[in-house]
Amino acid sequence: MVLIKSVEARSILSKSNLPVGDYSANPYVGCTHACKYCYASFMKRFTGHSEEWGAFLDVKNWPALKKVEKYAGREILIGSVTDPYLPQEEHYGRTRLLLEQLQGSGAKLSLITKSDLVERDLDLLSTFPGVTVAWSINTLQEDFRADMDCAASIERRLKAMEHFHKAGLRTVCFISPIFPGITEVEEIISRVRGICVEVWLENLNLRGHSRGVILAYIRRKYPHLVSLYREIYGRGDKTYWVDLDLSLAQWAARQGLTYVTKRTNWQGPTQEGSPTIFNYFYHELIKKCGIRN
Ligand code: SF4
Repeated sequence: MVLIKSVEARSILSKSNLPVGDYSANPYVGCTHACKYCYASFMKRFTGHSEEWGAFLDVKNWPALKKVEKYAGREILIGSVTDPYLPQEEHYGRTRLLLEQLQGSGAKLSLITKSDLVERDLDLLSTFPGVTVAWSINTLQEDFRADMDCAASIERRLKAMEHFHKAGLRTVCFISPIFPGITEVEEIISRVRGICVEVWLENLNLRGHSRGVILAYIRRKYPHLVSLYREIYGRGDKTYWVDLDLSLAQWAARQGLTYVTKRTNWQGPTQEGSPTIFNYFYHELIKKCGIRN
């Protein structure tokens, strides 16, 4: 049961200090995908919600955007603290309204989703030059996925990615968050090869409420991983990530894939049709990149 209410917002676009976006836009407050590891749940504190994360949704109304040409060439990230394609979007259409209002602006849009409802807006999104649509996928196991979120199945996300890629849009597979010992990174990359242009990697970071929830889950479902999680999240040992980074770099080389650890040093894609892998391990870097999982 989700508590839904309508709220008035002064503006839908907020200036962002994130390097990936000049502006961010969140058509909703809250996120009914309710991921157990969600970093955006801190929003509860700022919006006066005491309900569980995922159990409420504020649907925003905002004044129509004017003179949208001023956003030409500016980067707008849609959904920095919510998923723009929640199931409720089908009814409320706030994200679609925003896309309609931004028509003709020339803004560089990007969005990250765990849904295939985004397919409904393929027509509108196609009109934005260079638009980036990323799907967050951190497993190919549907049972683990279902334990972690209430979003679309992995198969549906992959199908949507394929459709967008075939339609000529810039698609990304965001492998996030990587659960040590569970997320099968190489298999996921192999699965999305040919249907996305980039793969972004982010490690699992545990803090706040999600820390206890995830560690209890690991104890219950993956007891053989308890000592590994204790090393990483109790003692702060980074060996797992250093080793994974190294083995992925070697694996990517064998696969003929480009593996990039610093976007600033990247010279552009070298192999047509294969995704470039970007490693955003270590959360301090993710924060700088402003990526929501
Ligand atoms: S991680 Fe993303 S999709 Fe999941 S609840 Fe948080 S904002 Fe929503």
